[in-house]
Amino acid sequence: MTDTNFVRPGREPLAQVPGPGQRFVVAGGETFSDTDPTTQERVATVRSSTPSDVDEAVQRAAHAFTTARWRNDGAVRARVLFHYAERLRADRDRLAELLTREQGKTISEARSEILGSAEMVEYYAGLARAVYGRSIALGDDAHGVVVREPVGVVAVVTPWNWPLTLLVRSLAPALAAGNACVVKPASLTPAITVEGLELLASDPELPEGILTCVLGPGDVVGAALVSHPAVDMVAFTGESTTGIDVMRRAADDLRKVALELGGKSPNIVFADAKLDKALDGAVNAIFTTSGQICTAGSRLLVEAPVYDEFVGRLVERAQALRMGDPLDPATTLAPLVSAAQQRTVLEYVDIGRKEGSLLTDTDVPVEGILERANFVAPAVIADLPTDSRVVQEEVFGPVLTVHSFSDEAEAVRLAEDTPFGLAAGLWTSDLDRAWRIGRALRAGTVWINTYHHFYAEAEVGGFRRSGLGRQQGIEGLFEFTETKHLNFDSKATLWCAPAPISPARWRW
Ligand code: NDP
Repeated sequence: MTDTNFVRPGREPLAQVPGPGQRFVVAGGETFSDTDPTTQERVATVRSSTPSDVDEAVQRAAHAFTTARWRNDGAVRARVLFHYAERLRADRDRLAELLTREQGKTISEARSEILGSAEMVEYYAGLARAVYGRSIALGDDAHGVVVREPVGVVAVVTPWNWPLTLLVRSLAPALAAGNACVVKPASLTPAITVEGLELLASDPELPEGILTCVLGPGDVVGAALVSHPAVDMVAFTGESTTGIDVMRRAADDLRKVALELGGKSPNIVFADAKLDKALDGAVNAIFTTSGQICTAGSRLLVEAPVYDEFVGRLVERAQALRMGDPLDPATTLAPLVSAAQQRTVLEYVDIGRKEGSLLTDTDVPVEGILERANFVAPAVIADLPTDSRVVQEEVFGPVLTVHSFSDEAEAVRLAEDTPFGLAAGLWTSDLDRAWRIGRALRAGTVWINTYHHFYAEAEVGGFRRSGLGRQQGIEGLFEFTETKHLNFDSKATLWCAPAPISPARWRW
C-alpha cells in the first residue's frame, strides 16, 4: 500500500485493504469498515474473505510448504526475518500512527509496540539457523538422530489489543521453524496488520504462498480457517471462550493447537515492598492499554497494614491519568477499542458500584472531538465479594478491584481464586517469600518487583483457562515444530531376525 492508506481527521478515509500489490491477502468478498476509537472516523475499508478465499489461501500455503526450499533453508528464513525487523524499525512512525488511529492506544505505546515487534522478529531471525536436533548412541550398531521439523500449514489467528506484537509473536517463530502461515487478524485492526505484514510479504526472498492472509468475521472466516482440513496447526490468541471453540474445531482432525487466552491476574503487594515502586507497578499493571491487555493486573491484593495508604495513593494516581487524544504525547489513558467494548466495561463498572464501593469518580467530562471517543474513566473498586463477576471475569478495561489480606496463605488463596493462570505480580523485599509465593502461584509469568516486562527470549503462556503451550523464547519456537526420530542400524542382519519379534528383545 501507499502512504495514503490512512487519513487524519477531516480528510476522506482512504485505507483500502487489500490494496494494490497485496497479493498475499486473499479477500474478494463484501466490504466492511473500521473506525478510529477517538474520532469515530473511518480508518479503513476492508474486503472480507469468502469461504473459497480461505480455501485458496490454505491451498497456496500447503503448496508452498511442500514445494518451496523454505523449510530446509534456515539461512534464507533468517535473512527474510532480519530484513523484516529492519523494515519495521525504519517504518516505526508511520505504523505507530496507523496503530493509534485504528486501535486507539497512546502514540508512545504504539511506538513501543512496533519496536517490540521488531525485536521479537529479530530474536526468531537468529533462531532460524539454530533449529537443532540431537543425536543419541543406541548401542554398538544403532544410532538415533532426533530432528525438529516444521509442522506444515499454520493458521495464526490474532486479537486487536496488541495487533502487531501478538501477530509476530506467533508468526515469527512459525516462519523461523520453516512453516507456511495463513494469518487471520482481528476485524477491528485489519489495516495495521496488513500494513505490518506487507513489509514482510514484499521481501523478494519470501517464496510465494509461505505467507497469506484472510480477513473478515471470526465466527465465519476464522472458523473456516481453523477447521480447514489442510491446516496442520492453529496458533490462536484471544478470549478463553473463543479459544475453547477453536480447540473443539481443531479436535475434529486432531490438529495441533497453541492457545494464548484470557487472564485475571493478581498483583500482590506486601507491607515490606518498596511501596513507591509498587505503586508505579500497580498503575502500569492495570492502566496499560487502558486495561485491554491479557496480563492486566486487574486484582490488587494489599497486605492489611499498608492497605489504606496504598489504595488511597493509587486512587489519586488513577484520577490523575489524562484521557485525551492518543496522538497527543501528553495523553496517558486512551479510549477503548470500540463502542461495544466501552459498553461491556461500563456494565462491569455498574456491577462494581452495586456490589462494592467505587473509590474513583468515573464521571469525568470530556470535550470537543473527544466526546465521541470510547473513553471509560479509571474505576477502582473495593469491598467486592470474591465471587462477584467483576472479580472473577476478564473485564478488559481500566477497572481494578482491590482487596486486603493478612498473611501469605490468604494472599495465595485470593490470588488463586479465579479459573485463570496467565500472570501475577509480587512486591516484597523478602527474597525467601518471593521464592515461596512465586512457586506457589499457578501462572505462566510471575513478575517480582516489576510488572509487564516482556522479553522475546523468555516464555509466556497460561495455566488453566489462560491457555495451552508457550510463546516467546526457545519453547515458542519448538511449539511450531514436530519432533522426529531417524533410527539408523548398521548390523548385517535385522535385529530381530530370524526369531519373531518378542517383547524380550525390545529395547525400551
Ligand atoms: P476474540 O477471542 O474475540 O478474537 C480473537 C481472534 O479470533 C479474532 O481474530 C477474531 O476475529 C477471531 N475469532 C472469533 N471467533 C472465532 C471463531 N469461532 N473461530 C476462529 N476465530 C475466531 O478476542 P479479542 O479479539 O476480543 O481479544 C481480546 C482477548 O484476547 C482477551 O480475552 C485477551 O485476554 C485475549 N488475549 C490474550 C493474550 C495472551 O497472550 N494470552 C494476549 C492478548 C489478548 P474477529 O475479530 O473477526 O471477531
